Amino acid sequence: MHIILSIAHLTTANIPQSIRLETAFFLARIAQRYDLNHLLIGYIDAWIRPHNNSITKIGCEQWLYIAWQFGLDVYYTKLANHLALHCQVDEHNALLKPGSEEAFTADDFPPRALFVIHATRTKHITALLDTLTHLITHLLGPSACKIPTSPAPDREICTARNNHGLQRYLVQHDLSPLHMHNRPVTRSVQEILDVLQSTKLSDVLRRAGDDAGHEACRVDDELGTRVNKVVEEFVWALDRGLVAQIKWNSARRGMSSGRGNLVNARLMENEDCYA
Ligand SMILES: [Zn+2]
Repeated sequence: MHIILSIAHLTTANIPQSIRLETAFFLARIAQRYDLNHLLIGYIDAWIRPHNNSITKIGCEQWLYIAWQFGLDVYYTKLANHLALHCQVDEHNALLKPGSEEAFTADDFPPRALFVIHATRTKHITALLDTLTHLITHLLGPSACKIPTSPAPDREICTARNNHGLQRYLVQHDLSPLHMHNRPVTRSVQEILDVLQSTKLSDVLRRAGDDAGHEACRVDDELGTRVNKVVEEFVWALDRGLVAQIKWNSARRGMSSGRGNLVNARLMENEDCYA
């Protein structure tokens, strides 16, 4: 609080050149409570700049409130998306701090921020499980083998080994969508991606036998393509209300509020997070 008073009373000798991230967080809380963003013009960017590289570091999640309060839309988006990707949930479906078993405290975050991150995480996982379900269904169909000129028995073997290999791999990693749709997924999106994008699936398929002439049918390539497409289409951990508030906060510290590039198709798809 003494920093705020020093600025307000123009006692510049008492204004620090640099501050810790925790101090920036408390300043953001005070600026929010008393609508003081305009007082911090000329200071806040210089104070925050040394902390830019820590934005996704474990233990620096306070950055989200700082970015929100001071209208730093790019930083907010980066950290919110990062948390949607890396947060686990506990058995009560509470969002956990990355690298710990401790749940986040909602008061340390902007209103609705945790809700939107949580909802985005759930969307990511649902999209990945849906993709797995579609791929397994595809492998049970007649077009799974991509070599139509191959003899029917060979096509059957090709499809069977791909199907078996994939399902076995998923069960081994507790990722079979047949089981997972009916219970909460506590792992982070990134942990699930690590399994789906691992080369170990190739090893499992290779152990199932030679696929001479059917390399193009390999389900690990198909899975990789489908998973990458899902990742490319991941919605952002934002909604219209958060974007509007970030822009408002930005304008309150004299930054242009006309920077509308943040709102793109991926954000708009996430509108139903708006509560
Ligand atoms: Zn084939």
